[in-house]
Amino acid sequence: MALDDEAYAAARAAMVSEQIQSRDVRNPAVLQAMRSVPRHRFVPEGEQRHAYRDTPLPIGHGQTISQPYIVGIMTQLVEPDASDRVLEVGTGSGYQAAVLAELVDHVYTIEIEPELARGAHSTLQDLGYDNVTVRAGDGYAGWPEHAPFDIIVVTAAPDHVPQALIDQLKRGGSMIVPVGPVHSVQELRLIKKDDEGNVTTRNIAPVRFVPLRRNDDSR
Ligand code: SAH
Repeated sequence: MALDDEAYAAARAAMVSEQIQSRDVRNPAVLQAMRSVPRHRFVPEGEQRHAYRDTPLPIGHGQTISQPYIVGIMTQLVEPDASDRVLEVGTGSGYQAAVLAELVDHVYTIEIEPELARGAHSTLQDLGYDNVTVRAGDGYAGWPEHAPFDIIVVTAAPDHVPQALIDQLKRGGSMIVPVGPVHSVQELRLIKKDDEGNVTTRNIAPVRFVPLRRNDDSR
């Protein structure tokens, strides 16, 4: 049985205070965004009751929606601003895109699995997120038509940071990306490009993401 909206809102408030704020996500705008986005709408019906638990959840096609805390910390690390244009690689359910959409001007998000891209697009439309553009395709090459981006968020793990994404990051911009071997622990990296174009990398924490896959035609 589905819970009513009020019960979900209460579960969401508890999620934010117990799983996110109590750890190290302190940015009030990020916390507010995560209180607002109805995470249960981004998971399959059978998983809705679990949507506010402290874990990733399956979203079909062997993919997962990240644990809420991971979404929170990644969002805080890229320091979203109301005027920012963001690229996300790995739309999945659309949840991370919705959290970003609460905070920035526009989110461009790419998903390699066409059915997930369609599902995310329709969920985001239903919820009124008209500042998110979803595209089905391989995000390895970024989205040159809309580059450069103030922020790039990669939610599937490549074994190295794609040069195209570094090129499409604006000066003064930030990228968060899990990097490492497939089916193993990866390192969450925060990459910054300064006003002169110099790139620096900081390792944040070990994480586990699904691999960034490649479409054969884009190699
Ligand atoms: N951000 C998502 C979770 C993403 S899981 C959310 O909030 O729900 C990672 C997603 O990346 C999966 O859906 C997977 O299909 C997708 N993916 C993997 N390789 C990709 C690629 N090369 N380009 C775009 N998406 C990719």
